[in-house]
Amino acid sequence: MASLQDSSAKAALTPTAPRVFRPERAAPSDVVRPTRAEINLGALRHNLRVVQRQAGSARVFGVLKADGYGHGAKAVARTLERAKIDGVCVALLEEAIELREAGIRTPIIVMGGYYGRAWAEVSRYQLTPVIHDRDQIAELAEEVRFGGAESMDIHLKIDTGMARLGIRLPELHSAVQTLAGCPEIRVTGLMTHFACADAGPREAILDQLGLFSEAEATLRQAGHTPSVRHAANSAALFRQPAAALDMVRPGIALFGVAPGLSVETTLRPAMRVRTEVVALRQLRQGQTVGYGATWKAGRASTIATVPLGYADGLSRALSNQGHMLIRGRRAPIVGVVSMDMTMLDVTDIEGVNMRDECVALGAQKGPLGEASITAEEVANHMGSIPWEVLTNVSRRVPRFYREP
Ligand SMILES: *Cc1c(COP(=O)(O)O)cnc(C)c1O
Repeated sequence: MASLQDSSAKAALTPTAPRVFRPERAAPSDVVRPTRAEINLGALRHNLRVVQRQAGSARVFGVLKADGYGHGAKAVARTLERAKIDGVCVALLEEAIELREAGIRTPIIVMGGYYGRAWAEVSRYQLTPVIHDRDQIAELAEEVRFGGAESMDIHLKIDTGMARLGIRLPELHSAVQTLAGCPEIRVTGLMTHFACADAGPREAILDQLGLFSEAEATLRQAGHTPSVRHAANSAALFRQPAAALDMVRPGIALFGVAPGLSVETTLRPAMRVRTEVVALRQLRQGQTVGYGATWKAGRASTIATVPLGYADGLSRALSNQGHMLIRGRRAPIVGVVSMDMTMLDVTDIEGVNMRDECVALGAQKGPLGEASITAEEVANHMGSIPWEVLTNVSRRVPRFYREP
């Protein structure tokens, strides 16, 4: 034991040992467990084409915040960049830097609006910041002057009803005054965000677009010439063609989920979460499963255990509620989902064996049929939305990228 510690301590000191600055996600090469998220790069490219067709002449900037909605922002960005996407958006400066350091050259808009004291990084990494209040304008202008750069292009965010980030219309005149004193700031883009794109009345989108036009007019009168106006997320893009403007910002649609859409889309889910049966047992009638004995066998039952739990992102709300796929059929989750493992009732599924594949999210073709579990289905059990289902898939689940 002592010698093992000695040698690993020595390895950490050798100059060739990599220094780890931040926790990285489990890498495919580290995998022992059969649990993994498979990302279909062909589905991403297909979804990009569907989105581009819908966007018409508007540019498409894919939203890759939160590690590309859990799919792995670097690999997704690389795939979409090769597929000629016009650019990408992220929420955090850190996320943008991660992409640049991975070699992504496509334009990147940082939407979250928080730059701390790291304005210098914004220009060093050639990022487009979204500015959402007057104080930021002055702060950035000073930074640009101080850094010796000539100018910085920004997108200005207008709050037209979301009440989250952005300059509200009554405040716009004072922001315009501040801009007048900051010639090094060039407003090249104008953006807003819809509150009711995927739920609520369509007119709400049009109302917000109306306010957005007013804001644009105010800026143009003051001599600004924003060349890109953008507002639409995935839902607005599909529900309200007028919202596409010059550029669209779809996120979830690229990953194959059509949020709250009644229209038929041909989007393909890009992520599949799969694992394998690691234990099988027979229960007699009356025996129970899992913590708290919340499930009791009403008959002689076959229970399969899979190594996927809430720490992997499988919500505990699926306890005694959700399903997984095995041999192409749906198997109910029984008992409570635990941190690392979940049990399935496979009594009605013939011929289940150790190492059989189980799918918690996505489609499966098996000897007994074909089925799929969508992010919407899982979200319904959680009382949540598909966005949370995708971003919940945790760090310890390695992502495997595959071409179809
Ligand atoms: C997340 C986000 C989007 C993308 O939304 P989807 O519904 O996933 O398409 C677009 N714009 C902003 C400002 C966002 O925060």
